[in-house]
Amino acid sequence: MNEATKTQGPYDYDLIVIGGGSGGLAASKEAASHGKKVMVLDYVAPTPRGTAWGLGGTCVNVGCIPKKLMHQAALLHQSLDDARTFGWTFDEKVRHEWSTLTEAIQNYIGSLNWGYKVSLRENAITYENANGEFVGPHKIKTTNKKGKEAFHTAETFILATGERPRYLGIAGDKEYCITSDDLFSLPYCPGKTLVVGASYVALECAGFLAGLGLDVTVMVRSILLRGFDQQLANMIGDHMESHGVKFLRQFVPSKIEELEAGTPGKVKVTAQSTVGSETFEGEYNTVLLAIGRDACTKNIGLDKVGVKVNERSGCIPVDDNEQTNVPYIYAIGDILDGKLQLTPVAIQAGRLLAKRLYGGSTVQCDYVNVPTTVFTPLEYGACGLSEEAALEKYGDGNVEVYHSYYWPLEWTVPSRDNNKCYAKIVCNKQDHERVIGFHVLGPNAGEITQGFGVAMKCGMTKEQLDSTIGIHPVCAEIFTTLTVTKQSGANAEVTGC
Ligand SMILES: Cc1cc2nc3c(=O)[nH]c(=O)nc-3n(C[C@H](O)[C@H](O)[C@H](O)COP(=O)(O)OP(=O)(O)OC[C@H]3O[C@@H](n4cnc5c(N)ncnc54)[C@H](O)[C@@H]3O)c2cc1C
Repeated sequence: MNEATKTQGPYDYDLIVIGGGSGGLAASKEAASHGKKVMVLDYVAPTPRGTAWGLGGTCVNVGCIPKKLMHQAALLHQSLDDARTFGWTFDEKVRHEWSTLTEAIQNYIGSLNWGYKVSLRENAITYENANGEFVGPHKIKTTNKKGKEAFHTAETFILATGERPRYLGIAGDKEYCITSDDLFSLPYCPGKTLVVGASYVALECAGFLAGLGLDVTVMVRSILLRGFDQQLANMIGDHMESHGVKFLRQFVPSKIEELEAGTPGKVKVTAQSTVGSETFEGEYNTVLLAIGRDACTKNIGLDKVGVKVNERSGCIPVDDNEQTNVPYIYAIGDILDGKLQLTPVAIQAGRLLAKRLYGGSTVQCDYVNVPTTVFTPLEYGACGLSEEAALEKYGDGNVEVYHSYYWPLEWTVPSRDNNKCYAKIVCNKQDHERVIGFHVLGPNAGEITQGFGVAMKCGMTKEQLDSTIGIHPVCAEIFTTLTVTKQSGANAEVTGC
């Protein structure tokens, strides 16, 4: 620590939180509820396209919220088709108005942005729409949109700066491609779209764009949904492919060129095979990059205060108390090294951290068995370990996998996707067949997975699932009647109730 710039107390604030997203807002409100003097900084650097947004971070503005609403818009399209088989008739030509959708979503987001501001004011938290960076120990510089600078000190800091989409680093990417940061407020329908990447963001966006009736291709470098159960990941890919999404596998873009300006315009994509010398060329109205996200840790002066960063990932290593190597600086949310990057995780970590700092609590955030859902057209809910991770951790002989396909009753009348939905539990044979991995592919997978996530926290075993009486006729009842093990090789398809 440089003694010359060391700032001694008293400080302007008890706590300064850098980043007003899911984690930062939760931590600041909890700290204020304990009577602490708190400042929150939130600043959104515009995308290369100039897109920016209000208070609340990724989830609210360019993540979970607009994504789920667009997913819902796509599901409604499917429901229209189903409705005819249930006796509904409507003669009008069905078409989708992109601007109506984005306007409705942006209006809703605007109301959330406003709500966050009000809530900060009600909690007597100082909010500045300004970029924050350390200039010395306990001291930051803030710079607002107009370039006005100010300096503030605090006893404690929480870093919650989140991540931003990565670009390819090739000719034309920043000029002619968009990312999820631009998509949800795009002022025109994207048209024929190439989605680059195989992350959950890539597949979700490809899924709802196709569901809205657009021509969509996904360019995949290697595997789908890295880190998720690969059997389920491939089933998602197969389902999307059978519903019109094209996949271009083992290719990476090498050049993006503009052919026509417009809204949308037209771009030419050149790509190279990752396994051979083949070159691909294609023309699209929009190229959406979803190849990963980089932690916003580079320009916040961490070198000035000595906070260690994982050089490779740019993320910040913390201990079980979310404390960095600099004792008065903590970090939460997406910028943490090796933790799940989800909104409820950031919120829980932020709230518990503030309770420990100011409320006398010792409760730490439990990052194990966090349930999550991928909102692809066929939703995928998961909690705990993938099958491959369980086999690696416990060994072949110690893991039992029970599985079954199923057909939601609602899909039988429209004759849709028979035996495409799937349920799988991964059990630890050495520990009373405790469920260590839960996986479900089907409608409302998130709603199903939330409850089973609670059960897994309570230590759910296969025997307890078997002794639970199902609710009929719902999708989730399949988990109370699983009998086929993978090892047996028996048929896991279902034919009736
Ligand atoms: C397309 C998409 C879909 C997603 N869907 C889901 C989902 O369905 N469910 C789910 O749980 N999660 C989802 N996520 C992930 C979720 O959005 C994040 O895990 C969550 O927002 C992380 O919260 P955070 O507080 O760490 O960061 P963020 O919410 O990203 O907030 C960080 C804030 O800090 C600001 N900031 C950065 N640097 C500075 C600085 N120097 N000074 C001031 N402010 C700064 C940023 O502009 C931002 O507003 C999705 C993400 C994306 C991109």
